[in-house]
Amino acid sequence: MSSRDPKIIAAYDTYKMNLPKECPFCVLGDRSIAEAFKHFNILYALFPYSRWDDRPVKHHLMAVPKRHHTIFEEFSDKEARELLHIMTVYEKRGYSVYARAPQDTTRSVSHQHTHLLLLER
Ligand SMILES: [Zn+2]
Repeated sequence: MSSRDPKIIAAYDTYKMNLPKECPFCVLGDRSIAEAFKHFNILYALFPYSRWDDRPVKHHLMAVPKRHHTIFEEFSDKEARELLHIMTVYEKRGYSVYARAPQDTTRSVSHQHTHLLLLER
């Protein structure tokens, strides 16, 4: 289970009520990129979780494909290989990995994204 701080929840609720027409992961605007790969950007979560698995979250990133995909099945072989590479790199850095299915109503952006969560030990 995930949770957010009350201030983040309020900001997230406001964001969800005023969702942009464009996909927020296709149109990044001035959003800063933590790390860029050929097919993926690693983005800072705008509304980071404060807790995951009942533990405090130190850092919340997301691996986002540069092309608009909604499910893993749509990935090219090169994209799929790169995501596995990214998960391997971040796993070595201590991050846990999570992605919601499109049927999950908690998922707010249809553009596939994989959460990278660094937890307090
Ligand atoms: Zn998109």
